[in-house]
Amino acid sequence: MKQTILILEDEPLILDEVRETLIDDGFEVLASGTADEMWAMADNQRIDLFVLDLMLPDGNGLQIAKTIRQKSDVGIIILTGKKGETDRVVGLEIGADDYVTKPFSPRELSARVASVLRRTKGSFYPGDRQGDPNKAEIVAFAGWILDLGARHLLAPGGDGVHLTTAEFELLSTFIEGPNRVLSRDYLMDRVHGRDWAGYDRGIDGVVSRLRKKLKPGDGEPDIIKTVRGAGYMFTPKVGVP
Ligand code: CA
Repeated sequence: MKQTILILEDEPLILDEVRETLIDDGFEVLASGTADEMWAMADNQRIDLFVLDLMLPDGNGLQIAKTIRQKSDVGIIILTGKKGETDRVVGLEIGADDYVTKPFSPRELSARVASVLRRTKGSFYPGDRQGDPNKAEIVAFAGWILDLGARHLLAPGGDGVHLTTAEFELLSTFIEGPNRVLSRDYLMDRVHGRDWAGYDRGIDGVVSRLRKKLKPGDGEPDIIKTVRGAGYMFTPKVGVP
């Protein structure tokens, strides 16, 4: 039986190249350009390994890797940018089996796919997410509840709080790496994309708007700490509600 690889990559040229190479190497390949497309495929057939790009038009690959890993031991390889050291560290911590740094040769990726498949035993099956489709995507911190799928934030008192797209991306990036200093560069990449250039203060504005919305109660510690000269740190414990 052929093993099925699902690739999620929004750059069509890379997607095509990788797909062709993996097909040549004898794999069954499913190619998707958006997170929605990917879930539609993964909820319908067995997947033996995921190849996940991180920056996507409708989601983020680290969050997707985390959701998959919570449900399955399937192989996961992430695709990161050259400067993506934090992505790689967080990705491996979340449970990705390996990473490939862009630009990469499809042959190298295919070799890593084969190597990860030799090590991993599990697959991802339709219905793996259906036991509790939303739970994996809802997280809690310091009394707040964030639904990453619906992009809903609930304050400790239960009131809904509106987040802009940038504020949501920033908060979900913090949630992947709590208690870790995240540099402005890293946050900027994740919030605005790798094409973002200059405007060093840009991320500070988003942080200060998010901070205003996440105001801690009297005497409670700051949720987002400034680490002078280094970046920002998200201090609460992140768990399930
Ligand atoms: Ca991308």
